[in-house]
Order: sequence, then structure tokens, then C-alpha cells
Amino acid sequence: MAQIIDGKAVSASVRERIAKETAEFAKETGVIPGLAVIIVGENPASQVYVRNKHKACQDVGMHSVVIEMPENTTQEQLLEKVDELAKDNAIHGILVQLPLPAHIDEEEVIKAIPPEKDVDAFHPANVGRIMIGNQSFVPCTPAGVMELLDAYDIEIEGKNCVIIGRSNIVGKPQAMLMLQKNATVTICHSRTKNLAEVTSKADILVAAVGRSKFVTADMVKEGAVVIDVGINRGEDGKLCGDVDYDAVFDKVSYITPVPGGVGPMTITMLLKNTLTAAKDSVR
Ligand code: NAD
Repeated sequence: MAQIIDGKAVSASVRERIAKETAEFAKETGVIPGLAVIIVGENPASQVYVRNKHKACQDVGMHSVVIEMPENTTQEQLLEKVDELAKDNAIHGILVQLPLPAHIDEEEVIKAIPPEKDVDAFHPANVGRIMIGNQSFVPCTPAGVMELLDAYDIEIEGKNCVIIGRSNIVGKPQAMLMLQKNATVTICHSRTKNLAEVTSKADILVAAVGRSKFVTADMVKEGAVVIDVGINRGEDGKLCGDVDYDAVFDKVSYITPVPGGVGPMTITMLLKNTLTAAKDSVR
């Protein structure tokens, strides 16, 4: 029977630590870490994420600004706003909520954020730093996974880590972080052959596919650690992950539930990156 990795509890304790460090840092330097989030258009899911980020910042004593721009905002107008925030000394982290409307070139916008304020770590300079292992920021979701493994003292060094998914925001940076911890890492994706054969060799299996109940019991090794990054709607309309949780539960040693596993960690890691950006700004 598996031990459940409680992302809510770990997230709460990390946020408590961040709040304490934020207060100490403000006292020492007079600088309050500040995050600006730009949202373009009215995507309801994005609006919820942005509201949650704003509230999380306030809860840990950070300065938070939300900039709402209309759907018909031009690329130039958005780049001007990013530039304005880049020059604003009260703002240490800039995040442009994705996805952007189709007429805007996401890559150009990400590149316009100064790397030292890029708290999502999507700028090519930050992606490169992750590759060579001297990053300041790590993309929030894979950073959250690492924090969870650490909180439960799960050893990574020398382990077979298999990641299903190769996206720029989850799969690839997840692989790099595990490699930095001396794991033997395999990345699987939609063209991987004999997927179950590969995943069933994993000591630590990370699922970031975006398909409910994709990982079945036969794909998982006895005693493995299973980290479920997926956020999907099941047939019953409820939130569920990529892993067939009930089927896998008795076979594995640790598992993250959905909701309540990786999800709560993502915004927490954004707060951590914002604090890091503020600290770096006074160095
Ligand atoms: P994505 O769509 O960019 O990537 C999905 C990956 O899955 C791709 O690399 C693809 O190759 C792989 N894949 C698809 N079908 C496959 C198959 N049959 N076999 C093997 N691999 C296959 O998605 P993403 O942005 O990386 O997100 C993945 C999931 O994680 C989604 O459910 C998303 O909602 C969730 N997510 C959660 C958080 C969080 O905070 N917990 C953050 C980001 C993403």
C-alpha cells in the first residue's frame, strides 16, 4: 500500500517558510518582493490561476500586481507593458499568463522578459542555465516535484527516473533537474515504443501527459514512486491525474493524489522564485 505524498501539507509548510524569509528580507533591506502578472483576454481558467497567484503573494507578504489587458491587445502593446515592468524597481518577477491570444507570438513575449525577472523560467537564457545546472529559477511545476521528493526524503541519486512527457514547461526541465541529482533519466513521449516496458523499470515515474488514467498498474514497477503531474477532467467531471490512482495504489511505495499532490506546489514555487529574484536584485 502506498504512502500518499501530501502536496497541500508540503506546500503550506514551504509557504510558511517563504513568508518568514520575505519578512526577514524586507526588514534587512527595505525591499518587498514584487510579482507582476499580465493576463491578456478572458480565458476563465487563466483568470482563476491569476487570482490564485495574486492571493498567494499577498498571503506571504509580497507585493502583487495584476495587469489585465483586453483580448485585442496588440503584440506591441504587450511588449511595451513588459518593458515598463522590466524597468520597475518594485517588480522582481514578471509572469505573462499563457496561453496568449493566437495573434500574439508567445516566444517573442517570453524573450522580452529580462531573464532576472523571468520567474516562470521560460526565457531561453534560463532554459540554458538549467541545462548547465547553474539556474536561479526553475520552472514551477518540476521544481514542485523536486520539493515533494525532498520533503519525503525520497532518494534520487542513482535511481531510474522515467518521465512521460517532453514539454518545455514540465517534461524536459523535470529531466534536467533529476539528472542534476544524479539519476539515470529516461524521457518518454508520444512516439516512444514499448512504453510500458520502459515505465515499468522506473524507480521514480513522473507522468505529465494530460490524459486521465493513462498510467495503468501494468506500467508501474512494484514499490515505485509515482508522481502524477496531470490535471484532467474524468468522465464523471471530477479532476483527475494521468495515473489510474486506485489501480496503482497497492503496487507502489509513494504516490501523489490529484488534486492535492503536485498542483498545490506550482504557485508555491512561483513565490520561491519571486523571493529569489528579489534577493538577487540587491546582491
Ligand atoms: P503537453 O501537452 O505540452 O505535453 C504532453 C506530453 O505528453 C507530450 O510531450 C507528449 O509527447 C506526451 N504524450 C502524449 N501522448 C502520449 C502517449 N500516448 N505516450 C507517451 N507520451 C505521450 O502537456 P504539459 O503542459 O507538459 O502538461 C502535461 C499535464 O500536466 C497536463 O495534464 C497539464 O494540465 C498538467 N500540468 C499540471 C501542472 C500542475 O501545476 N500540476 C502544471 C503544468 C501542467
